[in-house]
Amino acid sequence: MKIGVLALQGAFSEHLKILRCFQNLETVEVRQPVQLLDLCGLIIPGGESTTILKLMGLYRLDTMLADLCARGFPIWGTCAGAILMAGEVGNTNPNMPAGLGLMKITVRRNAFGRQVDSFEEKLRVPVLGDKPFPAVFIRAPLIESSEPPAEVLARLGNRAIVAVRQDNLLATTFHPELGDDDRFHQYFVSMAETYQAYHTNF
Ligand code: GLN
Repeated sequence: MKIGVLALQGAFSEHLKILRCFQNLETVEVRQPVQLLDLCGLIIPGGESTTILKLMGLYRLDTMLADLCARGFPIWGTCAGAILMAGEVGNTNPNMPAGLGLMKITVRRNAFGRQVDSFEEKLRVPVLGDKPFPAVFIRAPLIESSEPPAEVLARLGNRAIVAVRQDNLLATTFHPELGDDDRFHQYFVSMAETYQAYHTNF
């Protein structure tokens, strides 16, 4: 099975490093639409959401992803990637093109302040088991609200929503690829395995 990481800008190599430790999994740095065709999932990494979105449009990755998404293809957006997944984005650059708009969530960019206000916090994430997950927030967005079928997976201190799943889609406002806890990656790999079992011939 192959999982891709969008490799246009941002923290893609850290995701690849974690995925390469999984057995029976091939990884691909995705830069062209054709590379999506034999994948069972795609991670959109953290970075700078305006830049990533502009490059996705330039390479026509945005339209292809929307088509694949409608067929159940798993996509996980982390931090800037989560911003791109959102149906609505506040505090955005007025020149920013519309995001992918795939999930029923409203996201506010840079909700915790500037780069220097970045922080780490242990999160309770019931779908990952009892052990708290160490989450790194770097100039992170916040999920202000979510609507079904999007389901909240984790909150920061019982309030702010920071991880959401909507069927084949996952959004986390922090960076699960920074650190040595790979449970979020395992969780996404299992979403990709489900997709492979039901949707592909490879
Ligand atoms: N602040 C960035 C943005 O709005 C996201 C930061 C990140 O991905 N770590 O695009």
